[in-house]
Amino acid sequence: MIASLVKKQKDFFGSGATRNVRLRKSYLKKLKKAVLEYEDQICDALYADFKKPKFESLATETQFILYELDEALKNIDIRSKPKRMSSIWANFPSSDWLYPQPYGNTLIIAPWNYPFLLTISPLIGALAAGNTAILKPSEFTSNTSKIIYEIISEVFPEEYVAVIEGGKETSQELLSLKWDYIFFTGSTKVGKIIYQKAAEHLTPVTLELGGKNPCIVDNTASLKVTAKRIAWGKFLNCGQTCIAPDYILAHKEIKDKLVQEIINGIGELYGKSMEDSPDLARIATESHYKDLKQMLLGEQLLFGGDFNDQTRYLSPTLVNEPDLNSKIMEGEIFGPLLPIISYDSIEDIERHLSNYERPLALYVFSKDKKFRELIIKEYSFGGGVINDTLLHITNSKLPFGGIGASGIGRYHGKYSFDTFSHQKGIIKKSFWPEIPLRYAPYRLPIRLAKKLKYLFQ
Ligand code: NAD
Repeated sequence: MIASLVKKQKDFFGSGATRNVRLRKSYLKKLKKAVLEYEDQICDALYADFKKPKFESLATETQFILYELDEALKNIDIRSKPKRMSSIWANFPSSDWLYPQPYGNTLIIAPWNYPFLLTISPLIGALAAGNTAILKPSEFTSNTSKIIYEIISEVFPEEYVAVIEGGKETSQELLSLKWDYIFFTGSTKVGKIIYQKAAEHLTPVTLELGGKNPCIVDNTASLKVTAKRIAWGKFLNCGQTCIAPDYILAHKEIKDKLVQEIINGIGELYGKSMEDSPDLARIATESHYKDLKQMLLGEQLLFGGDFNDQTRYLSPTLVNEPDLNSKIMEGEIFGPLLPIISYDSIEDIERHLSNYERPLALYVFSKDKKFRELIIKEYSFGGGVINDTLLHITNSKLPFGGIGASGIGRYHGKYSFDTFSHQKGIIKKSFWPEIPLRYAPYRLPIRLAKKLKYLFQ
């Protein structure tokens, strides 16, 4: 059934239908209309899946998608036109161009943490650039997957865009087929499997993966506002955000004060009885909930540590100076547990960062410009923010993606369009004039041939 659907999409792409920019626009508009119509149901589904607060569902899923749809619609004409590039003297006279071309049949595999956003956002780029797509949402947020299925089946003919629901096995079946592009968001572990499968057909990929994101706070930072911004970025979506601060490196002089301010910040966000707060989501999957509880074993808690097995509630929790070999410091936490580690010198920071693969995000809070620049320039990571958290994801003019183990490629805005397009370089020549210098027998004196590089400018 999957193979025959993929064949239909191949034929549809082969028919040239998606080359028509007007068709792409009409479907992006239909998708926008459907997202608006279904917005409340999408929020209900997210709530049913992991009690995601409605405000967060709007702000981080549906409204984000509506913004990206508007952005794509506004720019699609200019992005899909061939772009004139400057020529070089060696080819005089010529006109030089970049022709964007859709890859063809794309596969988009999504995770459970922002299940609507991370399925539909890559789709917008794929459609704008003129591709077909098969979407494989996560099996763990089944209510959201169902709504995605409904919306996509209502808006698109299956030969253009289709949703295949299912878990790992379905994903593997999809990966056994030949694709023109694979866009994967998920864990580094599965990202490696995707890369291997894609390599069998030399299929290009984008891998949006995870990492252990450091958040560095020095002794010049304004602690109250720093603490509130860290608490917001960490506990939004109950910590299940790929770019959430994973652990804090706090200068030893301000560590205790920072901890107190974060505790105050958590109180302001979720009140005294955090379990009753309507603004705190739950852990989305049982296995992840169990993993998170395991991470707390043997750790010294500065705050929180409450849980409810029935509802997969896990409170915002601060962990004091965990051992670097402990489970919580082993890999990405991806939940509301925040280790706080003190540092004394830049060498301490270096030692901590070098313990891990290159992360997806890094945050630094400081009034010291030199220190901030040092951190931003010296270390390798996907993207980040100075004096705040998460915000770099909100500006579609900035590329979003990881490096090394946190991913390959980038997207959002123009970068999404480019990700899903092959850029063909084309030089246009006329039949006249014909300059004979390049042809044998070579007549140019060698002393002049040694200056040829100037013609390539
Ligand atoms: P995951 O890798 O377990 O699953 C992602 C998708 O891959 C799901 O659709 C799943 O069905 C499929 N899958 C799982 N195992 C597979 C296998 N063996 N073969 C083929 N497909 C398989 O990730 P997750 O747990 O859903 O999401 C959490 C991870 O995603 C975290 O590591 C997080 O950092 C990362 N993430 C990254 C970004 C980003 O933009 N870089 C965004 C969100 C989440």
